[in-house]
Amino acid sequence: MEKKKEILILGAGLSGITTAYFLQDDPSIGSITLLEKESVPGGLCRSIRKDGYLYDIGPHILFSKDKEMLELMLSVLDEGRNDLVRSNQILYQGRRIQYPFENDLSKLPEKDLKYCINAFNHNPYEAYEADNMIQFFLKTFGEGITNTYLRPYNEKIWKYDPAFMNTSMVERIPKPTQEEIRRSAAGETVQGYLHQLYFSYPSHGGIQAVPDGFLRRLKPEKCRLVCNACVESVEPAGERYRVTAGGQVYSADEIISTIPVQALTEAYALATQELKEHVDKLRYNSILISFVRLPYDLCGENFAFMIPDKNVIFHRISKMDFLGEAYHHAPQEATYMIEVTYRKNDQVDRLDDAAFRDAICQGLIEIGFARQKEDVEFIDITRYPYAYVIYDLSHTDNMAFIRSFYESCGIRLNGRFGNFEYWNMDRILRESLTLCQKITREES
Ligand SMILES: Cc1cc2nc3c(=O)[nH]c(=O)nc-3n(C[C@H](O)[C@H](O)[C@H](O)COP(=O)(O)OP(=O)(O)OC[C@H]3O[C@@H](n4cnc5c(N)ncnc54)[C@H](O)[C@@H]3O)c2cc1C
Repeated sequence: MEKKKEILILGAGLSGITTAYFLQDDPSIGSITLLEKESVPGGLCRSIRKDGYLYDIGPHILFSKDKEMLELMLSVLDEGRNDLVRSNQILYQGRRIQYPFENDLSKLPEKDLKYCINAFNHNPYEAYEADNMIQFFLKTFGEGITNTYLRPYNEKIWKYDPAFMNTSMVERIPKPTQEEIRRSAAGETVQGYLHQLYFSYPSHGGIQAVPDGFLRRLKPEKCRLVCNACVESVEPAGERYRVTAGGQVYSADEIISTIPVQALTEAYALATQELKEHVDKLRYNSILISFVRLPYDLCGENFAFMIPDKNVIFHRISKMDFLGEAYHHAPQEATYMIEVTYRKNDQVDRLDDAAFRDAICQGLIEIGFARQKEDVEFIDITRYPYAYVIYDLSHTDNMAFIRSFYESCGIRLNGRFGNFEYWNMDRILRESLTLCQKITREES
């Protein structure tokens, strides 16, 4: 009888967990072991419990054009879900513009409104091919909408000049029609990005309910999760691989890595200088998440607010109470999740927590959510090194080299930072499924 394969999955975020989930029914596989460096699985889909509050690493919502994967995610929410309607706004010069910006132009000051609609209607950039993010914005929305909102907001969130980013993620954005823009300029609030207008959120347990739901569906006779197992070294051992993690040695026939490709390359014994150079060139943003409580609610029945103003340190603030009863504590108070992106060694990274607190308080006063600094109670402030993949102009070339290197070593890459792609949860599930189907096909 042929020996069944042993698989090691590095990392137990959503991609590691769903890879195990899809692979567990493959009869040629005998065991699947997930090695996770943290004490709890879930990765970026973890939810943090502190002082009786529960919040995600950035507000995670469930929506997708991929109905099959969306249905699957929703089906593992054993404690139910809340179905919600988007109610997001952009805070612009003291005004509230409904998201997406181009669908609510009449709320702008008159001068900006005229600039946006005129540049959209007479757009000289429409005829060009867009080679980078800023060219895409100019071509699709015109100079007015680009300079009023898209350029400053994107510079703020990416901390990267959009002229040096490719179009990988923006080309999915639908182009508003002339008629929609005209109606929006004439006073009508038009709905845009319809696939994201309705979304769901677990009614209990925060977004962690998703990875937890898949974990509960792993067969214990086949799958094993080891936490506090930081992968330190990976090396070939004959036809197999040997991995050291958390001081223990593991061996397997096959490795699927969902840990950041930077961590894998550091651990991989046969990593070449050329590989390391390509990995070093990959660009990504880290994120600081702060969770605060205010004794009053000056924000209203809305969820997320985008803030292009560079004088406010955060680019997005989300009112967690919006997500359902389990996330709303007292009728008179409001709790907010605040997001600040940064990159290692940039000016924001150099701020200490006290400076962040000050800047966040100032920002809250500036946008009218706090009356005074003393009203802001900080529940948490935490930094997460891997948050957003930046599609800089050399991302495609760097990743082509890195993927082909690991493919030639027989190590499979998966996940947001494992494969270094800006993937949301729905895409993570789809990629895990596709990878597992490929593995099963190769077996037969
Ligand atoms: C701010 C923010 C908001 C988001 N909002 C949404 C949203 O609204 N909707 C949506 O669908 N998606 C959203 N996402 C995307 C979503 O979080 C990701 O698609 C998903 O969590 C990626 O899962 P992953 O397993 O690929 O990566 P990760 O979650 O990063 O998992 C990688 C795992 O590897 C572990 N690891 C790292 N190094 C090692 C090591 N050396 N040894 C062992 N283990 C290691 C990590 O601890 C982690 O558990 C958001 C992401 C962010 C950052």
